[in-house]
Amino acid sequence: MPSPAPNSIIVTIDGPAGSGKSTAARTLAARLGFEFLDTGAMYRAVAWSCLKSESSPEDESLVSELTRSLNIQFQNGRLLINQYDVTDEIRTSAVSTVASVVAQHPAVRDTLVDLQRACAEHGNTVTEGRDQGTIVFPNADCKFFLTARPEVRAQRRYEEMPDDSDRPEFEQLVEEIRERDYRDANRSIAPLRPADDAVSIDTSDSNLEEVVQVMEARVCEKSGPFK
Ligand code: C5P
Repeated sequence: MPSPAPNSIIVTIDGPAGSGKSTAARTLAARLGFEFLDTGAMYRAVAWSCLKSESSPEDESLVSELTRSLNIQFQNGRLLINQYDVTDEIRTSAVSTVASVVAQHPAVRDTLVDLQRACAEHGNTVTEGRDQGTIVFPNADCKFFLTARPEVRAQRRYEEMPDDSDRPEFEQLVEEIRERDYRDANRSIAPLRPADDAVSIDTSDSNLEEVVQVMEARVCEKSGPFK
């Protein structure tokens, strides 16, 4: 099993959709000079491939085989599948829903968890997802769990989406987020939950800067300054 490079520092940020973890993780990584790993993008990559190949996301053996066949790479902040740039295409509402279905399959998770650990071999890393502090990096140096009220999370996702005919109604988005949270929190493997040693932060009434400052202070307190 690949493991983080010796002496490299791992910071995990887990939480539900719209909790602000992606933006906070990306900002924290840039500030600390760490690599940033978006593990949700990997599940989205598998979901996108399912939709493209018209494979049933419920069919575990089919989706597992598909996952193993994909060459998923991050390059300069872009996500490539077999060299094809899918960075923007994986952000649709349809891909979000299918991602949480394929993420329930243990064999899919095994493949992606190996890939996540291999990515962390490159050095100090801030990684975000649902299971980073609990399953993927249980010995991480610093763990955070971000939450926010459901209506705040749905509003954030709504504002992130392009204002075009593909954007779902706000109420539909609330419903999709609720269903996705339920699947993520209740699946038998790697359910969404805070690690026992994670610091929980409710971001409902905080701005990005406040959240990142809390996290940066905590990382420096635990591991020393990096600048
Ligand atoms: O974070 P994001 O919304 O991009 O994640 C998409 C989906 O991928 C989540 O709803 C979840 O089902 C799955 N996921 C996961 N484990 C992770 C990251 C994402 O199961 N570490």
